[in-house]
Amino acid sequence: MTLRFWGTRGGIARPGPETVELGGNTTCLQLELGQDEPLLIDCGTGIIEYAQAGADLSDHHHFHLLITHFHWDHVLGFPFFFPIHSSEATIHLYAPFDEEVILEHMGALFDGTYSPLLDMRNLPATIEIHPLGPECVELAGVAVSCCPTDHTDPCFAYRFERDGRTLCVVTDHETRDNDANDQLAEFMTGADLLVHGAQFTEEQYLSDFEGFGHSSIERAIATGEQVGAGRLLLTHHHPLHSDDRLRLHLARVLRQQPRPMPVELAREGRGYDVAAPEVPKLGPS
Ligand SMILES: [Zn+2]
Ligand SMILES: [Zn+2]
Repeated sequence: MTLRFWGTRGGIARPGPETVELGGNTTCLQLELGQDEPLLIDCGTGIIEYAQAGADLSDHHHFHLLITHFHWDHVLGFPFFFPIHSSEATIHLYAPFDEEVILEHMGALFDGTYSPLLDMRNLPATIEIHPLGPECVELAGVAVSCCPTDHTDPCFAYRFERDGRTLCVVTDHETRDNDANDQLAEFMTGADLLVHGAQFTEEQYLSDFEGFGHSSIERAIATGEQVGAGRLLLTHHHPLHSDDRLRLHLARVLRQQPRPMPVELAREGRGYDVAAPEVPKLGPS
């Protein structure tokens, strides 16, 4: 399994020279599975880059799209995902919410006030809604399970298992001492690759952002170690943090307390082998 990031920013897209290295688009990830049907996680603005790259689009008519939650940075690219305009495409939307809730929140993106498309039900593509329960399901040949995170609105982490390898994706979670955190830590345990949101620095978090539903870089790293992750990719980068600032901050944290677990800032457009033990070095070298 290879995980590719098409969007790594949290909050809002931030294109420009300060984000060109790690990427300016909001959350969208793709689990590359060879010839299988595409499996995507979230449809922030990064899903537009996925569609533009076009690797899967001519061969596949079924798209499996898992949603973590409905904050705009995780769904706002969906009306611009051009397979919705193909009558040959079927887009399967999965989320651990009731069908009416998924329809209401995704459908709102097409409301005439916000979009000229007027109604999600008018789209040429077939949109199939699949509410997920707590049990594990198989999608595109991968075992998928979910777990609630501690966020400002209901939000879920996903765990993917195939061929003895495990990937956990935790985009929006505030790491703090409570039962939700303990439950999620158990869910993440033993992941070969852990993707974890890291919106703030610890200093920022403690001074201004407790209760905002996101973790700091330092807390995400501590979690990765706690759950025994093979490697850690930090994502959901703060939209106002430049690539340089993020890279320097992470280097400082790792210098102060060296970690055996490889830690890297996720980059838009890059693929990461879930099984690979080594992580390429950071920086523009
Ligand atoms: Zn988010
Ligand atoms: Zn959120």
